[in-house]
Parts: sequence; C-alpha cells; structure tokens
Amino acid sequence: MTTAQEEDTRRLRDLAERAGRELEEASAPEILQWAARTFGRRFCVTSSMEDAVVAHLASRAMPGVDVVFLDTGYHFEETIGTRDAVEAVMDVNVLTVTPARTVAEQDAEHGPALHDRDPDLCCFLRKVEPLERGLRDFDAWATGLRRDESPSRADTPVVAWDDKRRKVKISPIARWTQDDVDAYVTEHGVLTNPLLTDGYASIGCAPCTRRVLEGEDARAGRWAGRGKTECGLHG
Ligand code: SF4
Repeated sequence: MTTAQEEDTRRLRDLAERAGRELEEASAPEILQWAARTFGRRFCVTSSMEDAVVAHLASRAMPGVDVVFLDTGYHFEETIGTRDAVEAVMDVNVLTVTPARTVAEQDAEHGPALHDRDPDLCCFLRKVEPLERGLRDFDAWATGLRRDESPSRADTPVVAWDDKRRKVKISPIARWTQDDVDAYVTEHGVLTNPLLTDGYASIGCAPCTRRVLEGEDARAGRWAGRGKTECGLHG
C-alpha cells in the first residue's frame, strides 16, 4: 500500500469511529443523509433482496444510489423477481455481481452440492469474494443488519470500520425492530420478497434456507443443523 492509500485508509477509519459514536442515536434517514453527504457516489447499499427497506431509505437520501446484489446462482426465483422489481420501479441503480464460477463450474471443480459439504467454502466463493469485487469502487457500504435478528447481531454498530475490506460499514436500521421494518414497509409501500409471507423470516440461498418455526429467531432457518449462522459477509 502506498503512503497516500495508507493516509486515505486512516482518514476513513477515523471517520467511521467518530461517526459510530456520534450517530448511535441518530435516525436511519439521518444516518443515510450523513453517508450521502460524506461519501457521495463512493457510497452504496448492499441488498439480499429480502426487502428493499434500506435501498428505499438510501434512495431518498441519494436518488439513483448504487445497490449491490450478489447473485449466487442459488437464489429462490422470488428473490430474483424482487431484484428485478426493485430495478424497475425504484430510483436506484442495481449492480448485480456474480461469482467467478457458475454453479456448474463450481460443481466440476469441487463436486456437487458444496453447500452441504463445505458451506464456508461455498459462501466464500459465491458471496464473500464477489462482495469484495462489488465494493471495490466504494468507500462505504450500507447493510440491513439489525440487532434484534439474532444473538450474533446484537452488538451491530450503526457505523463502524470494516477492517477486512478497509471500508466504512453502515447499518442504518441496526436499532430497528421487526415491527419498525413492517411499519416502514406499510407506510411507504416498499417492495418485499414474497417468501416473507410464506414462513421465511430471513432469506438466503435456496439450499441453505428453510422456513422458521414458532418461537425461533429470524435467522434460525439459515444453514439449520450445520453449525453455521453467518455467511462471512459480516464476520
Ligand atoms: Fe453456498 Fe449456501 Fe452459502 Fe449460498 S448460502 S453461498 S448455497 S453455502
């Protein structure tokens, strides 16, 4: 890394740490207005297309905001349909990022159903590495992480330094509850994935996602029975 790059990294890290303290009590629109002001086109949103809440909030702060979507090749058709609808009707620019290899090429190299045998490697190849590429042109990215989703997300900061990617990571709805999300969706008519009304509380790739049972937390249906709770995008 050159001295100029090191300087830039230090500046972004300091900025993230200060904003994390100052914006802890700020509303989601305030956090996203700060992001739009601070980073301009170097800011993007990532979306799993479970719903378009953060994309909607961000598009109000910055019309035409870039929305990065990782098309793993294993999504439910409802998820791809939600991505298409978001692209068609919202004031955002959807950037679809694909893994280096198709599912067929991955099967040829690693054997079929890698998600059953080594889900960490599968997530790395189909999510983690593509995200690094998808975020290459940005200094800051916003996610839809919420503290109430699962114990592993209970300490999610609203703004933090993402040391792995050397970028500012923003979670504008970290303090929201599911009720807050539902109220925002209803009030603004925000697009949601139809699977949310079919028993799925958190939606990832089809082979690794099941409906949740009564009393389970929202992410209990992800990699159920495989001892895995996160894909590596947020670890
Ligand atoms: Fe592979 Fe499952 Fe991870 Fe999707 S969620 S990338 S199918 S292991």
